[in-house]
Amino acid sequence: MLYIVPTPIGNLQDITLRALETLKTADAVLCEDTRRTQILLSHFGISKPTYRYNENDERSVARCLDALKSGKTCALVSDCGTPCISDPGWKLVKEAVAAGIKVSSLPGPSAVACALAGAGITGGAFTFLGFLPRKPGKAARMIASAYGLDVPVVLYESPYRVVKMLELIAKNLGSDTPVILARELSKVYEEWLRGTAKSLADELSKKNKVQGEFVMIIDRPAAPEREDENDGQDAYF
Ligand code: SAM
Repeated sequence: MLYIVPTPIGNLQDITLRALETLKTADAVLCEDTRRTQILLSHFGISKPTYRYNENDERSVARCLDALKSGKTCALVSDCGTPCISDPGWKLVKEAVAAGIKVSSLPGPSAVACALAGAGITGGAFTFLGFLPRKPGKAARMIASAYGLDVPVVLYESPYRVVKMLELIAKNLGSDTPVILARELSKVYEEWLRGTAKSLADELSKKNKVQGEFVMIIDRPAAPEREDENDGQDAYF
Protein backbone atom coordinates (compact mmCIF):
# COMPACT_ATOMS: atom_id res chain seq x y z
CA MET A 1 0.00 0.00 0.00
CA LEU A 2 1.35 3.42 -0.93
CA TYR A 3 0.15 6.51 0.91
CA ILE A 4 0.96 9.92 -0.54
CA VAL A 5 1.46 12.13 2.50
CA PRO A 6 1.58 15.94 2.30
CA THR A 7 3.83 17.67 4.83
CA PRO A 8 3.91 21.34 5.96
CA ILE A 9 5.12 24.09 3.61
CA GLY A 10 6.53 26.09 6.51
CA ASN A 11 4.53 25.82 9.70
CA LEU A 12 4.96 22.39 11.26
CA GLN A 13 1.56 22.66 12.92
CA ASP A 14 -0.03 22.34 9.48
CA ILE A 15 0.56 18.60 9.35
CA THR A 16 -2.74 16.75 9.47
CA LEU A 17 -3.70 14.20 12.11
CA ARG A 18 -4.10 11.62 9.37
CA ALA A 19 -0.66 12.38 7.94
CA LEU A 20 0.87 11.81 11.39
CA GLU A 21 -1.08 8.59 11.89
CA THR A 22 0.00 7.33 8.46
CA LEU A 23 3.66 8.15 9.12
CA LYS A 24 3.45 6.42 12.50
CA THR A 25 1.90 3.25 11.17
CA ALA A 26 3.78 2.90 7.86
CA ASP A 27 6.57 0.35 7.59
CA ALA A 28 8.80 2.85 5.79
CA VAL A 29 8.88 6.44 4.60
CA LEU A 30 9.94 7.15 1.02
CA CYS A 31 11.41 10.61 0.77
CA GLU A 32 13.17 13.15 -1.39
CA ASP A 33 15.86 13.93 1.18
CA THR A 34 16.30 11.53 4.09
CA ARG A 35 17.93 14.15 6.33
CA ARG A 36 15.11 16.65 5.93
CA THR A 37 12.50 13.98 6.46
CA GLN A 38 14.29 12.68 9.57
CA ILE A 39 14.10 16.19 11.04
CA LEU A 40 10.34 16.24 10.41
CA LEU A 41 9.86 12.73 11.79
CA SER A 42 11.85 13.37 14.94
CA HIS A 43 9.96 16.61 15.55
CA PHE A 44 6.85 14.46 15.83
CA GLY A 45 8.61 11.68 17.75
CA ILE A 46 8.37 9.21 14.88
CA SER A 47 11.14 6.72 14.22
CA LYS A 48 10.92 4.94 10.85
CA PRO A 49 13.24 3.56 8.22
CA THR A 50 13.54 6.05 5.36
CA TYR A 51 14.32 5.28 1.74
CA ARG A 52 15.61 8.01 -0.54
CA TYR A 53 13.55 8.41 -3.62
CA ASN A 54 14.61 10.24 -6.79
CA GLU A 55 12.80 10.24 -10.11
CA ASN A 56 16.06 10.41 -12.05
CA ASP A 57 17.61 7.49 -10.23
CA GLU A 58 15.96 4.32 -11.54
CA ARG A 59 17.56 2.26 -8.77
CA SER A 60 15.92 4.33 -6.08
CA VAL A 61 12.53 3.96 -7.81
CA ALA A 62 13.05 0.20 -8.14
CA ARG A 63 14.05 -0.11 -4.48
CA CYS A 64 10.93 1.70 -3.30
CA LEU A 65 8.78 -0.35 -5.67
CA ASP A 66 10.32 -3.57 -4.34
CA ALA A 67 9.44 -2.54 -0.79
CA LEU A 68 5.83 -1.98 -1.89
CA LYS A 69 5.69 -5.24 -3.83
CA SER A 70 6.95 -7.14 -0.79
CA GLY A 71 3.79 -6.03 1.00
CA LYS A 72 5.19 -3.12 2.97
CA THR A 73 3.00 -0.12 3.68
CA CYS A 74 4.94 2.94 2.58
CA ALA A 75 4.35 6.67 3.04
CA LEU A 76 5.66 8.88 0.26
CA VAL A 77 6.66 12.40 1.33
CA SER A 78 8.57 15.23 -0.32
CA ASP A 79 10.58 18.05 1.25
CA CYS A 80 7.46 20.17 1.63
CA GLY A 81 3.82 20.20 0.63
CA THR A 82 2.23 17.56 -1.51
CA PRO A 83 4.48 15.02 -3.23
CA CYS A 84 4.18 14.94 -7.04
CA ILE A 85 3.12 18.63 -7.17
CA SER A 86 6.30 20.18 -8.62
CA ASP A 87 8.06 17.56 -6.53
CA PRO A 88 9.26 13.99 -7.00
CA GLY A 89 6.86 11.09 -6.71
CA TRP A 90 4.85 10.74 -9.90
CA LYS A 91 6.99 7.97 -11.40
CA LEU A 92 6.70 5.83 -8.31
CA VAL A 93 2.94 6.41 -8.18
CA LYS A 94 2.64 5.52 -11.85
CA GLU A 95 4.63 2.32 -11.44
CA ALA A 96 2.82 1.38 -8.25
CA VAL A 97 -0.53 1.75 -10.02
CA ALA A 98 0.77 -0.32 -12.95
CA ALA A 99 1.93 -3.03 -10.54
CA GLY A 100 -1.54 -3.21 -8.99
CA ILE A 101 -0.44 -1.70 -5.67
CA LYS A 102 -3.15 0.26 -3.89
CA VAL A 103 -2.44 4.00 -3.79
CA SER A 104 -4.12 6.46 -1.46
CA SER A 105 -3.55 10.20 -1.68
CA LEU A 106 -4.00 12.16 1.54
CA PRO A 107 -5.21 15.77 1.34
CA GLY A 108 -2.98 18.37 2.97
CA PRO A 109 -0.73 21.39 2.53
CA SER A 110 0.21 22.58 -0.93
CA ALA A 111 1.50 26.07 -1.74
CA VAL A 112 -0.66 26.42 -4.86
CA ALA A 113 -3.98 25.93 -3.02
CA CYS A 114 -2.85 28.01 -0.04
CA ALA A 115 -1.85 30.95 -2.28
CA LEU A 116 -4.98 30.84 -4.41
CA ALA A 117 -7.25 30.78 -1.40
CA GLY A 118 -5.64 33.91 0.06
CA ALA A 119 -5.35 35.77 -3.22
CA GLY A 120 -8.89 37.11 -3.16
CA ILE A 121 -9.57 36.19 -6.75
CA THR A 122 -11.89 33.71 -8.29
CA GLY A 123 -10.59 30.23 -7.69
CA GLY A 124 -13.24 28.64 -9.85
CA ALA A 125 -10.72 27.85 -12.54
CA PHE A 126 -7.01 28.44 -12.87
CA THR A 127 -4.01 27.10 -14.71
CA PHE A 128 -1.08 25.84 -12.68
CA LEU A 129 2.23 25.78 -14.55
CA GLY A 130 4.53 24.97 -11.61
CA PHE A 131 8.15 25.93 -12.36
CA LEU A 132 8.56 27.28 -15.87
CA PRO A 133 11.43 26.23 -18.13
CA ARG A 134 14.58 28.34 -17.80
CA LYS A 135 14.58 29.37 -21.45
CA PRO A 136 12.78 32.76 -21.64
CA GLY A 137 11.25 32.02 -25.08
CA LYS A 138 9.70 28.77 -23.93
CA ALA A 139 8.55 30.27 -20.61
CA ALA A 140 6.94 33.23 -22.43
CA ARG A 141 5.11 30.91 -24.83
CA MET A 142 3.76 28.80 -21.98
CA ILE A 143 2.56 31.83 -20.02
CA ALA A 144 0.91 33.42 -23.07
CA SER A 145 -0.79 30.18 -23.98
CA ALA A 146 -2.09 29.59 -20.42
CA TYR A 147 -3.18 33.22 -20.03
CA GLY A 148 -5.08 32.86 -23.29
CA LEU A 149 -7.47 30.50 -21.49
CA ASP A 150 -8.84 33.56 -19.66
CA VAL A 151 -8.21 32.18 -16.17
CA PRO A 152 -5.56 33.11 -13.56
CA VAL A 153 -2.17 31.47 -14.05
CA VAL A 154 -0.26 30.17 -11.04
CA LEU A 155 3.51 29.64 -11.00
CA TYR A 156 6.15 28.54 -8.55
CA GLU A 157 9.25 30.71 -8.65
CA SER A 158 12.56 30.93 -6.85
CA PRO A 159 13.62 34.19 -5.16
CA TYR A 160 16.57 34.43 -7.55
CA ARG A 161 14.35 34.56 -10.63
CA VAL A 162 11.19 36.25 -9.42
CA VAL A 163 12.12 39.72 -10.75
CA LYS A 164 13.13 38.29 -14.12
CA MET A 165 9.82 36.44 -14.31
CA LEU A 166 7.88 39.63 -13.52
CA GLU A 167 9.80 41.41 -16.27
CA LEU A 168 9.04 38.62 -18.69
CA ILE A 169 5.33 38.86 -17.82
CA ALA A 170 5.37 42.65 -18.25
CA LYS A 171 7.05 42.28 -21.63
CA ASN A 172 4.79 39.54 -22.95
CA LEU A 173 1.40 40.15 -21.32
CA GLY A 174 1.66 43.89 -20.63
CA SER A 175 3.19 45.90 -17.80
CA ASP A 176 -0.25 46.47 -16.21
CA THR A 177 -0.93 42.75 -15.85
CA PRO A 178 -2.18 42.19 -12.27
CA VAL A 179 0.08 39.93 -10.21
CA ILE A 180 -0.14 38.61 -6.67
CA LEU A 181 2.93 37.25 -4.93
CA ALA A 182 2.40 35.01 -1.92
CA ARG A 183 5.69 34.87 -0.06
CA GLU A 184 6.70 32.56 2.79
CA LEU A 185 3.21 31.16 3.28
CA SER A 186 2.52 29.88 6.79
CA LYS A 187 5.89 31.17 8.02
CA VAL A 188 6.77 34.06 10.35
CA TYR A 189 7.44 36.44 7.46
CA GLU A 190 4.40 35.53 5.37
CA GLU A 191 3.74 38.42 3.01
CA TRP A 192 1.32 39.22 0.21
CA LEU A 193 2.42 41.59 -2.54
CA ARG A 194 -0.25 42.82 -4.91
CA GLY A 195 0.33 45.05 -7.91
CA THR A 196 1.14 44.86 -11.57
CA ALA A 197 3.97 42.96 -13.23
CA LYS A 198 5.89 46.21 -13.57
CA SER A 199 5.17 47.72 -10.15
CA LEU A 200 6.20 44.50 -8.38
CA ALA A 201 9.33 44.11 -10.52
CA ASP A 202 10.27 47.70 -9.60
CA GLU A 203 9.48 47.15 -5.92
CA LEU A 204 11.51 43.95 -5.64
CA SER A 205 14.40 45.32 -7.72
CA LYS A 206 14.95 47.98 -5.05
CA LYS A 207 15.72 45.31 -2.44
CA ASN A 208 19.32 44.26 -1.86
CA LYS A 209 18.31 40.65 -1.92
CA VAL A 210 15.01 38.94 -2.63
CA GLN A 211 14.50 36.08 -0.21
CA GLY A 212 11.91 33.46 0.59
CA GLU A 213 9.65 31.16 -1.35
CA PHE A 214 7.10 32.55 -3.76
CA VAL A 215 3.89 31.56 -5.44
CA MET A 216 3.07 33.92 -8.29
CA ILE A 217 -0.49 34.42 -9.48
CA ILE A 218 -1.04 36.23 -12.76
CA ASP A 219 -4.58 37.51 -12.52
CA ARG A 220 -6.99 38.71 -15.18
CA PRO A 221 -7.52 42.46 -15.59
CA ALA A 222 -10.51 43.65 -13.51
CA ALA A 223 -13.77 43.05 -15.29
CA PRO A 224 -17.36 43.65 -14.20
CA GLU A 225 -18.57 40.57 -12.33
CA ARG A 226 -20.67 38.31 -14.46
CA GLU A 227 -23.90 37.14 -12.91
CA ASP A 228 -23.44 33.62 -14.15
CA GLU A 229 -19.82 33.23 -13.04
CA ASN A 230 -18.98 30.03 -11.17
CA ASP A 231 -22.44 29.27 -9.92
CA GLY A 232 -21.88 25.69 -10.98
CA GLN A 233 -25.28 25.68 -12.61
CA ASP A 234 -24.22 26.44 -16.17
CA ALA A 235 -25.55 24.08 -18.72
CA TYR A 236 -22.81 22.58 -20.88
CA PHE A 237 -25.08 21.68 -23.75
N1 SAM B 1 5.15 20.07 -3.39
C1 SAM B 1 5.09 21.45 -2.97
C2 SAM B 1 3.62 21.88 -2.89
O1 SAM B 1 2.75 21.02 -2.79
O2 SAM B 1 3.35 23.07 -2.89
C3 SAM B 1 5.90 22.34 -3.90
C4 SAM B 1 7.37 22.02 -3.87
S1 SAM B 1 8.29 22.99 -4.99
C5 SAM B 1 9.80 22.10 -5.03
C6 SAM B 1 8.77 24.35 -4.01
C7 SAM B 1 8.08 25.63 -4.48
O3 SAM B 1 6.79 25.71 -3.91
C8 SAM B 1 8.81 26.90 -4.00
O4 SAM B 1 9.84 27.27 -4.89
C9 SAM B 1 7.68 27.90 -4.01
O5 SAM B 1 7.42 28.38 -5.32
C10 SAM B 1 6.50 27.05 -3.54
N2 SAM B 1 6.41 27.08 -2.07
C11 SAM B 1 6.67 26.08 -1.21
N3 SAM B 1 6.49 26.49 0.05
C12 SAM B 1 6.09 27.78 -0.02
C13 SAM B 1 5.74 28.76 0.96
N4 SAM B 1 5.79 28.48 2.27
N5 SAM B 1 5.38 29.98 0.53
C14 SAM B 1 5.33 30.27 -0.77
N6 SAM B 1 5.66 29.39 -1.74
C15 SAM B 1 6.03 28.17 -1.37
